[in-house]
Amino acid sequence: MQFYSTNNKALRVSFQEAVFNSLPQDKGLYMPEVIPQLDPYFIKNIQQYSLQEIAFTIAKAFIGNDIPDADLKSIVDDAINFEAPVKFLDAETAVLELFHGPSYAFKDFGARFMSRVMGYFSKQGEQLLDVLVATSGDTGGAVASGFLGVEGTRVTILYPKGKVSKVQEEQLTTNGQNIRALEVEGTFDDCQALVKEAFNDPDLNNALRLTSANSINIARLIPQTFYYFWTYAQLKSQGMDEIVFTVPSGNFGNIGAGLLAYKMGLPVAHFVAATNVNDTVPRFLQHGIYEPKPSVQTLANAMDVGNPSNWVRIQDLFGQDLDQLKAKVSSYTYTDEQTLEGMEELFQKYKYVACPHTAIAYLASKAYRNEHPGEYASVFLSTAHPCKFPEAIKPEVFQHVALPDGASALAEKEKQAVEMPVDYKTFKTYLLVNN
Ligand SMILES: *Cc1c(COP(=O)(O)O)cnc(C)c1O
Repeated sequence: MQFYSTNNKALRVSFQEAVFNSLPQDKGLYMPEVIPQLDPYFIKNIQQYSLQEIAFTIAKAFIGNDIPDADLKSIVDDAINFEAPVKFLDAETAVLELFHGPSYAFKDFGARFMSRVMGYFSKQGEQLLDVLVATSGDTGGAVASGFLGVEGTRVTILYPKGKVSKVQEEQLTTNGQNIRALEVEGTFDDCQALVKEAFNDPDLNNALRLTSANSINIARLIPQTFYYFWTYAQLKSQGMDEIVFTVPSGNFGNIGAGLLAYKMGLPVAHFVAATNVNDTVPRFLQHGIYEPKPSVQTLANAMDVGNPSNWVRIQDLFGQDLDQLKAKVSSYTYTDEQTLEGMEELFQKYKYVACPHTAIAYLASKAYRNEHPGEYASVFLSTAHPCKFPEAIKPEVFQHVALPDGASALAEKEKQAVEMPVDYKTFKTYLLVNN
């Protein structure tokens, strides 16, 4: 399988190149040259398979023989070594919990898979692989834990100072070894802009072997399709096969993976994109005009994205056809006040403590059902464990959160971060001097 750039379908690269380049030089995004179609027989009998077996089948459909089966199988088994349970809140509403990995957020799927693929392709004796990543909160922890100790790699994480939660900051600043954290005096968009400029800088590319771990990397997108199939398998074993997925969205990688799964043959009735007030995509779906705005800080900080970088992939998947896209994807936007009400309602009604991102998805799934009653399962994605967001959850509710093992140990570790102004020259000098 080869991968093209969304800006130029004639430009094709191998899977390995797509993973290491992360972004094509023309600043498009990599997409598979054909969307692999899963065997209908496999989908029909999918409830017989485990999450890891499903994951292997999907990964193989994209990667082919670029990684031999036995190696791919150990990459998958090692990366996806945690659960992704679907929990029913009532007869027609379920939550897909994606936070049972080491950083307590769904980004573990992408980051763990990608780090192992990069480790696999990095040959001994090659120049150190420098992974640059901007995070609005959760990517940093997932990438840090995914790459920690992976030989031949060094990770530099840029995060917006004061705009990530305590647990998030601890997860990305207390690692040491091959992981460095830069505390940027700006927003997530500023962090992302610094990283993008570095990738386009010839001096840096001469001196360092740069690669990105952001959600634009194709090796992060692929593993995020796994759990859509897995959810279908779990529901099918309970006799349900009409599903509407609601996905709390920021950079639109997660819902992009869901739409990719759908295009691979997964039966999905509809997708709902749930956003906070960073509503570039909902406005686009409403008016047909894509007009990015600077990001606004909210309680659901991992979704504070003003210009979602994966959106071009979704448009590419639908051949730039807005009507087809709108037939499959709806969207809803929520303020912080509504988010708080959503968390409260989940707790009062179901005794379920959700993080703010998850609460936004819950509200949107409810809104969609109100407008579209019918016999289907509403599955909303829980993208992070509530323990990552103590500042956003009422103490009376937060006291019911069971801390995962390891969360309290984090607080004891020493913070190691370098302060960084929003200034490209300073960032560049840091990278060159600390090489
Ligand atoms: C990253 C993140 C999101 C947004 O996911 P995208 O793929 O960027 O749309 C939502 N919730 C949480 C908790 C996240 O960490």
